[in-house]
Amino acid sequence: MGVKMKWNATPKLWLEVEANSVTEAIEIISGYATVFSITKCGKCGSERVRPEHRVASGYNFYNIRCDECGAQFDFGQHKEGGTLFPKRDKGWYVYQGGSEGGPAAPTEDGNRAFSEAAADF
Ligand SMILES: [Zn+2]
Repeated sequence: MGVKMKWNATPKLWLEVEANSVTEAIEIISGYATVFSITKCGKCGSERVRPEHRVASGYNFYNIRCDECGAQFDFGQHKEGGTLFPKRDKGWYVYQGGSEGGPAAPTEDGNRAFSEAAADF
């Protein structure tokens, strides 16, 4: 028996989920919630954040970007299933140069950014 449900992920986002079991529904919702529950920048507190995807050197990079201060919060990708997980150890940081579009280096205040980002969850 399948079930269709609407889930209010954030005040701005509704998900329509179709699942065959409770466990499947949770797997689907949790995958979206991991990314879209981040609705606020951990650096400046702005709500002008958006999901971002880019490809560099053949790799996919997924993150949340703040349009206000330019900070980003990265996600890693599980090898199995391809789902994303938040890189909480890195937290929010502002990309400080390096190769254009390449993986960003953590900033000196990465620890502070982490504690701020963690407070959002
Ligand atoms: Zn910001």
